[in-house]
Amino acid sequence: MLVAKLRQLALVTRAGRVTLPYPFQPHPPAEGFRGLPTVDGEKCIACGACAAACPARLISVRPEGERMVLQADYTRCTYCARCQDVCPTGACHMTGRFETAIADRSKLRVRVALQAATCPRCGKRFASQRQLQRAAEQAGEPESSQALLALCPDCRRRAYGARLKGALGHG
Ligand code: SF4
Ligand code: SF4
Repeated sequence: MLVAKLRQLALVTRAGRVTLPYPFQPHPPAEGFRGLPTVDGEKCIACGACAAACPARLISVRPEGERMVLQADYTRCTYCARCQDVCPTGACHMTGRFETAIADRSKLRVRVALQAATCPRCGKRFASQRQLQRAAEQAGEPESSQALLALCPDCRRRAYGARLKGALGHG
């Protein structure tokens, strides 16, 4: 019995210290750790992909006056990282932050407001100017197609249909 206890004591002593001095010293999270997400307002194009992918429905992208506004309330976040996975610009990303117990909930909310683009036909605000600019750069299409890109989805569909009819001789 005594020998067994001595063996146990030797085992525990040999292990050294196994607890961390956190919170007295910072504890950096492991690589790939999924902490609180955030949005880089300089990279965001307000495309809404993160809002569509978020299972907690805590992100919205809507027109507000002359702006397209992204709002996120991370108090309900489940840290699934789907927003990060679908973001086409890398604006939405998981940080290493895990200390989210705070008194002021507004500190866990994010708002990004971008200049909205207006459809030249119907006047609807449907996207951010930054998103349209990116689409135009990526498409690298001729001028006629660039003009289609500037239209809201409804007007674009109608304009494309009219163009197709003309090309088929049904105009
Ligand atoms: S997916 Fe990325 S670029 Fe699109 S609205 Fe979300 S954060 Fe912005
Ligand atoms: S990590 Fe998941 S729950 Fe949190 S904002 Fe992103 S998609 Fe939504």
